[in-house]
Amino acid sequence: MPRRGPGALRVEPCGPRVWEDLSPDRVHGFSARTSLAIHRVEWLFGDYYLYPGAAEHALRRYREFLAQRRPGSLYPRYAGCSCRGCSFDDVRHARDVLELVLRELPARPRAELKRHVAVLDAAYLERTLPDPFTRDRQWRPGLWWRRRLADGEEGG
Ligand SMILES: [Zn+2]
Repeated sequence: MPRRGPGALRVEPCGPRVWEDLSPDRVHGFSARTSLAIHRVEWLFGDYYLYPGAAEHALRRYREFLAQRRPGSLYPRYAGCSCRGCSFDDVRHARDVLELVLRELPARPRAELKRHVAVLDAAYLERTLPDPFTRDRQWRPGLWWRRRLADGEEGG
């Protein structure tokens, strides 16, 4: 599937992607207050996978996954590499990042982000299938978005 957007500019599998250099202005579609709160979490949380711009990229990746115009169900795919750029190839990683941000945000910004994520979650539940054997397959079966049927590796 041809990718649109900055993800397509990647030259090496693990090279820096353009979106990592985005200046942390307003997060698209969010109030200034919530954007600032999100950036604070990204800057201060101190997690390898949570860097400035990570939340916006996670939202974009989640939307992109759900926007696929193909009939039938969608299947998340494992990322071929665990670096913080390639990890987003697995849409479930994008949802992990959003969960982390949600957990760290103060109440009001959290509510705003949660509203956006809830819409995507509903679409995700509708377009993916439950995996009955998830406990044998998933390393984090406690996360509901990881209890969906997956399909190999991105590009595999
Ligand atoms: Zn990588």
